[in-house]
Amino acid sequence: MTTTETPLPGKAANFIRNIVTDDLKSGKHKSIVTRFPPEPNGYLHIGHAKSICLNFGLARDFGGRCHLRFDDTNPTKEDIEYEDSIKENVKWLGFDWGEHMYYASSYFEQFYQHALKLIEKGLAYVDSLSADEMRALRGTLNEPGKESPYRSRGVDENLDLFRRMRAGEFEEGSQVLRLKIDMASPNINMRDPVIYRIRKVEHHRTGDAWCIYPMYDYAHCISDSIEGITHSICTLEFEDHRPLYDWVLDMLEAPCHPQQIEFARLNLSYTVMSKRKLLELVQEKLVDGWDDPRMPTLVGIRRRGFTPESIRAFCETIGVGKSDSFIDMSILEDAVREDLNIRAPRAMAVLRPLKLVIEGYPEGEADEFEGANHPNDPAMGTRTVPFSKTVYIERDDFQEEPAKGFFRLAPGREVRLRYAYIIRCESVLKDASGEIVEVRCSYDPGSRGGSAPDGRKIKGTIHWVSAEHAIDAEVRLYDRLFSTPNPGGKNEPDYRTSLNPKSIEVLTGCKMEPSLAASTLDSRYQFERLGYFCLDSKDSCPQAPVFNRTATLRDSWNEQKR
Ligand code: ATP
Ligand code: MG
Repeated sequence: MTTTETPLPGKAANFIRNIVTDDLKSGKHKSIVTRFPPEPNGYLHIGHAKSICLNFGLARDFGGRCHLRFDDTNPTKEDIEYEDSIKENVKWLGFDWGEHMYYASSYFEQFYQHALKLIEKGLAYVDSLSADEMRALRGTLNEPGKESPYRSRGVDENLDLFRRMRAGEFEEGSQVLRLKIDMASPNINMRDPVIYRIRKVEHHRTGDAWCIYPMYDYAHCISDSIEGITHSICTLEFEDHRPLYDWVLDMLEAPCHPQQIEFARLNLSYTVMSKRKLLELVQEKLVDGWDDPRMPTLVGIRRRGFTPESIRAFCETIGVGKSDSFIDMSILEDAVREDLNIRAPRAMAVLRPLKLVIEGYPEGEADEFEGANHPNDPAMGTRTVPFSKTVYIERDDFQEEPAKGFFRLAPGREVRLRYAYIIRCESVLKDASGEIVEVRCSYDPGSRGGSAPDGRKIKGTIHWVSAEHAIDAEVRLYDRLFSTPNPGGKNEPDYRTSLNPKSIEVLTGCKMEPSLAASTLDSRYQFERLGYFCLDSKDSCPQAPVFNRTATLRDSWNEQKR
């Protein structure tokens, strides 16, 4: 088992599970080994979560193991920040690689030795063409490529040149090592692909030990083989690379030859997932960093208040298939609603407060009511909600001239203050500009707890917070980052033009019931009638709490369209 948690329910069959089941049944493998191979050059996003849940999930469900392998064959400056975040995200999602954390860069020497072996077998050669010359000979989808004049170099010359490449004798771009496969292959990946290039840069793990670096297609299959991976699962765009994956391992007569299996990557509507675009959003300050709660990154989604359970459930819901498609954002949002509806205690908060004074209620007196933390789960207990002469209600819950179908507070009308009393609006106070600043109400002392003593029907129930006991807080209402389903897609010149101008609304001076003072960073709440909220992990402090809206109670996007 690769996770310390109990196995999760709902394991829908998919074609990869079927392959694994068959391989275990037939005895092809005694147990399975999968891997998640992120390149530590960015933060993980919800698409990566699909791959993590798939790879670690298979290992968990079939009693195998899943490796975390940093695919760090590209020399880059500073990757530690990304690496740490990736590890933390995988753990947060509920998975554990145990002892099995690896770096592709630890295999540099093996990659090199294997390259020498391929040269000796006459299967690789040093090409001295420039990049442009090589491109000119590569051919197109319809035309075969042409062989490089250096393709016929002898083994000894190739060995010598390659050793000298390693020794740093050549300039960047002057030589590459290529496989000798077939320049006429209909599959461009098989037209003598480059497997080593010269890059005179430091690598953050190997320092200046190397000035030649292997290409992904060459390094990846060998890494999988070294680690004894049984099923190497990748996204569909690698389907055309599979013949190369297999060719390299076949030619090396690798004792372990994993099966590459491709699945459809996750595309999610109303967001972007390319690392380049996410980086641009951060660098151009269009969002507040990688962990902006509107970002599809796992750090962002987490800060927004999503639970790991909801993301695993989402990945289970969308399944694993072989055709590329878009998943609607509402499916992800529904997953968190479904999870939080069960686990989030209820509380009352007023986001746009309107003062309401209860005439006749004794000045200075306070009452207390019991509020159920969850309407369907008594085990979640109750809390005390204090009440006093002045309370705040939501501005939206009062209309001076009620529209048709408005059943909340209006002059002369009665509503129920949740858990407390039935009140009736007697008058309103306005400021010089005519804005309502206070509503004055009478109350029915016999309705304590909320039901009318004479059994009369009260249509509306509204939430409230006692002014005297309220906690002040800031609330950030998040919405989708983009207002079109496929930002930058058809008829959109640039994805940035589709940014949703209303993706964040910051409200200050919100009023919270005092029980919310006990919130911790792990707390999630349903603010009654408003949505799901959590404390902001970055900006909130006990003196000045900041709550993020994780999700509305219902799918307001699709409702708007109806
Ligand atoms: P790039 O290759 O452009 O740097 P990447 O998104 O492939 O970006 P990696 O760090 O290489 O980033 O990805 C690690 C793993 O996550 C890969 O196995 C990849 O297939 C998988 N992955 C990445 N994006 C998605 C996605 N949208 N859906 C499913 N799996 C994904
Ligand atoms: Mg990749």
